[in-house]
Amino acid sequence: MIFIGCHLSVTDGYEAMGKRISDFGGNTFAWFTRNPRGGKSKPVIREDVDALMGYSSENGFGPLVAHGSYTMNLCSAKEETRSYGFDMLKKDLEIMEMLPGNYYNFHPGSHTGQGTETGIEQITEALNRTMKADMKTTVLLETMAGKGSEVGGTFEEIREIIDRLEFKDKAGVCLDTCHIWDAGHDIVGDLDGVLDKFDDIIGLSRLKAVHFNDSKNDRGSHKDRHEKLGQGFIGMDAMKRVAMHPVLQGLPFILETPNEDEGYIREIHTVLEWFG
Ligand code: FE
Ligand code: FE
Ligand code: ZN
Repeated sequence: MIFIGCHLSVTDGYEAMGKRISDFGGNTFAWFTRNPRGGKSKPVIREDVDALMGYSSENGFGPLVAHGSYTMNLCSAKEETRSYGFDMLKKDLEIMEMLPGNYYNFHPGSHTGQGTETGIEQITEALNRTMKADMKTTVLLETMAGKGSEVGGTFEEIREIIDRLEFKDKAGVCLDTCHIWDAGHDIVGDLDGVLDKFDDIIGLSRLKAVHFNDSKNDRGSHKDRHEKLGQGFIGMDAMKRVAMHPVLQGLPFILETPNEDEGYIREIHTVLEWFG
C-alpha cells in the first residue's frame, strides 16, 4: 500500500490542508513550514493544528512530511546565513512538536566553498543543538542532486551526517527520486541495485519518506529540475516500479511535480490505480 499526496500551501491553515488532500484523493501531504523564499512563519493556532491531527487520524492518513525553507542553509560560509538558518530550524522543530509523530524534511545545505567536511560538521552541530531526546518529530535529511556545493548528493554524505548525531533514533532520510537520478543513481535500469546500495550505506530502516518526482534531465546531470510523472527522463514505467517496490511499501510519497491542482489530482489517481 501507499500513502500519497502532494505539496500544499499552508495559507488557509492546517485543518484546511487535511481536507484539501482528501478532496484530491490523497492521504498524506507536505507543506512549507514558512514561505519558501522569505523567512517568516505564520503564527500557528493550536486549535487548528489539533483539528488537523484529529482529522488525519480519523481518515487514516500516513505521516505528514513538512519541508524546511529553501533559504535555510545550516552550512553557509556566511555566519549570518548559518545563524538565520539555525533560528529557522529551532522554531520549525518547536512547531512540529505541536503535530507529534510527523516528519520534518529539509535540504542538508550547501557548503558554499567551505568543503564537504566543514559542511557536514556545521549541519550536524546545528542538529545536535536543536534535536532533543524526547522530541516526537523525526528529522529527515533529503537526498540531493549534488548541484553546486550541495551536501547530501551522495548516500555516504547523508550517512556521515546521521553518524554524527546524538539522537540518531530521531533521524531519517527522505529519498527524492528526481534528485537521486540527477545525482547519478540508475533507478530506471537498476532500481534493486540502487536500493541495495542505500541499504548498505545508510540502511533502509532510515528511509521514512519519498519525494516522488520525474526529472527534466538525464541521469547524472546534477540539475534538480522536477518533471511531471511520466514526462521526464525517468518515465512512467520506472516511476511505477518505484511506487510498487516491496521495500518502499507503507511510506508517504509526496509529489513535488510542476503542477496545478488538476495535475496533482490526476497524478494522485494514477498512483492509486497502480495499487488497484
Ligand atoms: Fe526538497
Ligand atoms: Fe524533494
Ligand atoms: Zn528538487
